[in-house]
Amino acid sequence: MALLLMGPPGGGKGVQSKILSAKYGWPQISTGDLLRQQIKDCTELGLKVENLTKSGQLVPDSIILDMIFERIQQPDCQKGFILDGCPRTLVQGQLLDQHFQSHHIKTVVLVLDVPDEQIKERLLHRIVCEKCGTPYHTKTLPPKQEGICDRCQGNVIKRPDDSDAIISDRLKIYHQQTEPLFEFYSSKGYLTRIDGTLSKEEVSEKIEQVLTHYTCETTCQ
Ligand code: ADP
Repeated sequence: MALLLMGPPGGGKGVQSKILSAKYGWPQISTGDLLRQQIKDCTELGLKVENLTKSGQLVPDSIILDMIFERIQQPDCQKGFILDGCPRTLVQGQLLDQHFQSHHIKTVVLVLDVPDEQIKERLLHRIVCEKCGTPYHTKTLPPKQEGICDRCQGNVIKRPDDSDAIISDRLKIYHQQTEPLFEFYSSKGYLTRIDGTLSKEEVSEKIEQVLTHYTCETTCQ
């Protein structure tokens, strides 16, 4: 199964992906994390995408798709995998869909809906672990020890794209380039929307209900 978690930046995709990954043993594949790792390692790809990611622009589809196709061929993706932050454009969605169909991989798309105002509040106060990606909130959920991740002891930092002007640009891009995918997936019957303003636990519960429904649809027939 390909579980696609979609929604605005800061909508909770990363948090929910981690919960699902721990529960089902499916790897969480975050295109943002993969790109940030390339940048950190100063690879050729990292140098190419650094300015785009830091300014909140999208990375070209071909780069993203090459990265994803290579990753999902790894043995740990055999049973299922979670795509966090991909697709973000219609082209990415269409090409992924062709691939999944030809490989008989079932697709489930979940959209976490959160209004722009709430996203701005979340991202302006978001700090994240550089190493494992765990997000914190400077006011409501700071790490126990300042600057140090509770989970892995990595450095907790402010992402350069979590600044006021760049957040607005990312939201604009999300509405213009990513939202058209919802119609595409909805017409195929893959898409469920979830209220992402609920608590982490409530969102997780709703996702479970949707997944139970899909699993039952596949195995109970
Ligand atoms: P968020 O969901 O918080 O915006 P991510 O960590 O998913 O952040 O992505 C960070 C940046 O990486 C994006 O702003 C964009 O530049 C790039 N990126 C990630 N995924 C994609 C994608 N599927 N297509 C194009 N660019 C992407």
